[in-house]
Amino acid sequence: MPIWFGTRPSAPAASPPEAAEPLARPRELLRVGLPRVLNLWSTHQFWIALLETLGFDARRIEFSPDTSEALLREHGKGRGTVDCCYPVKCIAGHYGELLGRDKRPIDLLLSPMIQTLPSFLGGHVQASLACPRVMAAPENVKAGFLKGGDLFATRGVRHLTPLVNLDEPDLAARQLHAAFAPLLPGLKPAEMQRAVQVGLATLERFNAGLRNASRQLLADCAREGRPAILVLARPYHMDPGIGHEIEVDLQGHGVPVLWSQHLPLDDDLLQWMYGPDLAAGRVASPFDLRDVWPSSYSANTNEILWGAKFAARMPWIACVVRLSSYECGMDQPTYTPVQRIVEDSGTLFFSFQDLDATKPAGSVKIRVETIATYLKTRAAAIIAAKQAAAPPGCPL
Ligand code: SF4
Repeated sequence: MPIWFGTRPSAPAASPPEAAEPLARPRELLRVGLPRVLNLWSTHQFWIALLETLGFDARRIEFSPDTSEALLREHGKGRGTVDCCYPVKCIAGHYGELLGRDKRPIDLLLSPMIQTLPSFLGGHVQASLACPRVMAAPENVKAGFLKGGDLFATRGVRHLTPLVNLDEPDLAARQLHAAFAPLLPGLKPAEMQRAVQVGLATLERFNAGLRNASRQLLADCAREGRPAILVLARPYHMDPGIGHEIEVDLQGHGVPVLWSQHLPLDDDLLQWMYGPDLAAGRVASPFDLRDVWPSSYSANTNEILWGAKFAARMPWIACVVRLSSYECGMDQPTYTPVQRIVEDSGTLFFSFQDLDATKPAGSVKIRVETIATYLKTRAAAIIAAKQAAAPPGCPL
């Protein structure tokens, strides 16, 4: 049953083209800027491959730098338009940096409004929507650069914000063709369809590589009887200015860290982990969330809940660290279920909530040391207890 109570409203085939005039130079000479924010953290490989397939030069694709207080102060000051969570507010700094470049100035600022995401849980959950604040952010943030004059026009930069449903390749191709066609005369629908296919395949390959690396890491932990930590967070918490590199501090204590977005999905592993749930009829597949999360409509939220279940069933994940940002309305309903799923399995659980612009370095240091101490003293017993509770025949 979809979350929108009834049949899914037909998604628009395309966002209105923002710039009607074609771009003056050929594609291979255009410099494209993308803000390194929000869902770009989990889809950047798609966008790079899409642009390359369309004939753009990969060496002329530019991302803004990592988020930092300095970036917002230097490039986003006075450009704020939204009073909400920091991951959205900080985009003003990214836009300002891209627009203000004197060296390697960009011609096009591509800032997609991603409405739905490709998710490994697609087909097993109700929907794979992006957070609505994330989706609307490009148009919100743009307003700050129109105050006191249109900075896009002054800098000769086109701002392209295609609404795109990345979990529906055919629709995404139509949406992106309608957005790009006015800028790139002669662009054929088939050309965009191929670019979308290449983009999605590239993203899938990239993610598969990281999942293989995660499996290898878990296999090493299983062989050596060592613990690993799982970070449950949104993809953009990998940004040092948003997640404050808490996982890096943890790794500094010699404990390997996995991210929930890149857990292994191999069938042999999942059949072993979820065999008892499948046999008892609690879930229809290892990707089914109905036993813990009935409102499975948001892609990143679904993946966090799924990651919590994975951690609960994987013996060598002895500790889960939850990260979330200040004022995150999407995360708030998940705090209790995620903590319960993890703690009921005997796995250690720590959370850093309300992350904002400033890294509370002192308290992070103390808490990271606390986590490291807990792991040192309790990891062996946690792993042993989880192994005893797991089904026989671990394929790791
Ligand atoms: S998921 Fe939460 S923190 Fe992230 S943009 Fe949405 S509301 Fe803000």
